[in-house]
Amino acid sequence: MFRRLSTELAVVYAALFGVVMLLIASAVYLAVESNSRQSVRAEMAASSAVFDRLWKLRADQLSQTAEILARDFGFREAVATGDEETIRSALDNLQSRFTLDTAFIVGLNGHVISLDDTVGAAADPALLAALNAKPDASGVLMLGDSPFQAVAAPINAPTLIGWVVFGQRLGAGVLGELENLSAIPLNAHLYIRAGDSPWDAIDAGEAGSIKVSGDELASRITRDNDNLLIPIPENNSIAGVKSLLSFGDGVNAALLLEYSLTLNQAHYRSMMLKILVIGAIGLGALILGSWLVSGRVTGPVSSLRAAAARLARGELAEVRVAGRNEIAELAANFNTMSGEIAAREQRITHLALHDHDTGLPNLRSMEARLGDMRRQHDPGRLFGAMIGIDRFQHVRSAIGHAASTRLIGEIAARISAAYPEVSVARVTTDMIGATFHADSAEAALRTAAAIADLISRPMRLGDDSIDVLATVGVACDVDDADTRLSLIERAEVAVEQTRARRERCGLFDRKAYGDPASALSLMSSMIAGLGRGELFLAHQPKLDLKAGRVKGAESLVRWRHPERGLIGPDNFIPMAEETGHIRPLTDWVLDRAIADQRRMREVGIDIPLAINVSGRVITDPGFAERALRQIRRADAHLTFEITETAVIDNPTLALDVMNEFARNGVGVSIDDYGSGLSSLSYLRTIPAQELKIDRVFVQGMVRGNSDFLLVKSTIELAHSLGMTITAEGVENADTLALLTAMGADVAQGYFIARPLANADFLDFMEKARASAAVRSA
Ligand code: C2E
Ligand code: CA
Ligand code: CA
Repeated sequence: MFRRLSTELAVVYAALFGVVMLLIASAVYLAVESNSRQSVRAEMAASSAVFDRLWKLRADQLSQTAEILARDFGFREAVATGDEETIRSALDNLQSRFTLDTAFIVGLNGHVISLDDTVGAAADPALLAALNAKPDASGVLMLGDSPFQAVAAPINAPTLIGWVVFGQRLGAGVLGELENLSAIPLNAHLYIRAGDSPWDAIDAGEAGSIKVSGDELASRITRDNDNLLIPIPENNSIAGVKSLLSFGDGVNAALLLEYSLTLNQAHYRSMMLKILVIGAIGLGALILGSWLVSGRVTGPVSSLRAAAARLARGELAEVRVAGRNEIAELAANFNTMSGEIAAREQRITHLALHDHDTGLPNLRSMEARLGDMRRQHDPGRLFGAMIGIDRFQHVRSAIGHAASTRLIGEIAARISAAYPEVSVARVTTDMIGATFHADSAEAALRTAAAIADLISRPMRLGDDSIDVLATVGVACDVDDADTRLSLIERAEVAVEQTRARRERCGLFDRKAYGDPASALSLMSSMIAGLGRGELFLAHQPKLDLKAGRVKGAESLVRWRHPERGLIGPDNFIPMAEETGHIRPLTDWVLDRAIADQRRMREVGIDIPLAINVSGRVITDPGFAERALRQIRRADAHLTFEITETAVIDNPTLALDVMNEFARNGVGVSIDDYGSGLSSLSYLRTIPAQELKIDRVFVQGMVRGNSDFLLVKSTIELAHSLGMTITAEGVENADTLALLTAMGADVAQGYFIARPLANADFLDFMEKARASAAVRSA
């Protein structure tokens, strides 16, 4: 209802105060009212007593005068003799002395002798009856239409001969005198009822009259203690009633003393007015006070509210703490909370931008840093480098997770110490990213080489010394080739490319990377090519060095593209592995190898064929099952060439599958030994019958460097593990001779034969058989 607490408090307090004031005022009013009624009654009773005395005084005065006259000898005689002149003079004398309004004599026969004409010559029967009933009657008497206070005195001479009647007119004069004598402001009214006629007011006092008829007033009469009271709401007054003695029967008279409550209440009203003024001032003070107080309360609450809103928007929010009340405590708590939220937010931000293990900045942080650097410098001079720790998985399984984490930290620290301007980040488990400025690609490469060199120096981790190598891929922020790869992605690709070239550092090579969009279309046309028979297997003979004859072949896939011509597997196998198309391709190769072998058998060539199975496929749950079923059905004689990496990536599963092959008579051969992450511990567990030394070492061996020792020790190692050893890439007679001398079991290479399509392969085998026959002949 109220938008502001202070308004609500002020209104509520004001309303409460108003109610209390109203109650007080009502109580005062009621007290005043009842007090005023009581005082009115008391005063009216007093006034009525005054009137009684006044009435009696006047009556007494009248009767004394009348009696004096009635007892006067001369006057009695004049009445007895009917001497009207004497009577008139006596009446005249008294009337002027006592200012009587009327004075007359009534004879027994009703004859009237009067000085004025208020009575006619003959008294009316009612008057006569009243005089006869009570010779000294006193009371209200109607003469004509006018009321009089009248008294009578009998004239005895000595027997009754008539009556003296004196009267004082009852009108404004008497009533006015009465009003003046009263201590309180009264209006006196006289009401008369003659016979059965209604009550009638005989003149009212000067101050207004009563607008209600006499009978109506009579009906309102209530008895209150000893007084008769009439409420007259029309005049806001009450009236006391006093019945007046009447001179005879037939006339009723009543005096009404009207007392104005308005006048009575006037001074109370001024008191009420003062109370109201004081109340209004109090109310104003209260509103102001409660406004100020609630402002003191709600001010801090409002600033708390504003601060909470700021906090909700993620801004820093703090409120000023003043005083020591609950609100101050709340504000202090709020500040603590807001501080904790800020600290937590900082922690969250830190977590989001840093590597959990090493505390180094992470990929997101590196991206943000790149954004900053782009704004500050020419993007053409901005370079990103990815530093891939070679064989990191292997290192990690050798030294443990914690130590390998420290190793990464150590490498990053080494780079930062040597090149403070280079900012480093841990981008993936085995890659550290670096961003820096260089004047040219060559300069960037020099920095990359220096970094690689820095890392290759022995690293101390506690008591241990560790040797690691790193491959550094570099990319410029400006991508002329528009590969749609980010700088970081291009640097990552550059690492792979550099590794493939077996170098330490290198720039991103657009040409070698290819185009991902065309890569996908290449894959779909490869799948289509499978159906159209564009792909075929080329079989490369494997020469048994001891027996001197071909005792097997490796089946390698080829693709004769309708437009692009012959495409070698290096141009689509890695892509098929990336995109998942390797699975259908391997299925096809398996079928093809089984089919080709059947044809070879038909012409009497029964040798095992080796096919290459990549790591992704070997760990594919359905592959082993399907392959074994097919082989069993065709009674094929196959060997699967698998690289070590396939085992290292997912050892449990890969080893399970290989054991399954071995149990079912399918040969397992370790391919490309020496090029990857060779690990002796794995070599022991793999159920392989053959170890193929990578051609790089075989070819390097002849050049006479350290590869010679490596090949030699590998041959011994394989033999000690009960495996035959095959040397790949034998391109000349020297190599072949050397290998034979070193004790290798099998040789494979261009010097013996290139991979050959079916027909050529059969030709080759035919010739080989023939020459063997010639030799043995
Ligand atoms: P790899 O398994 O090491 O196959 C041997 C590669 O060495 C073949 O290349 C072969 O032509 C080549 N080679 C043989 N003798 C010599 C030699 O004396 N000198 C030189 N310089 N090279 C020689 P290719 O056929 O281009 O295959 C390359 C790679 O593609 C293979 O390497 C293998 O990893 C993969 N690959 C080939 N066919 C398949 C396949 O059907 N499935 C899978 N998964 N991979 C395959
Ligand atoms: Ca192979
Ligand atoms: Ca190989």
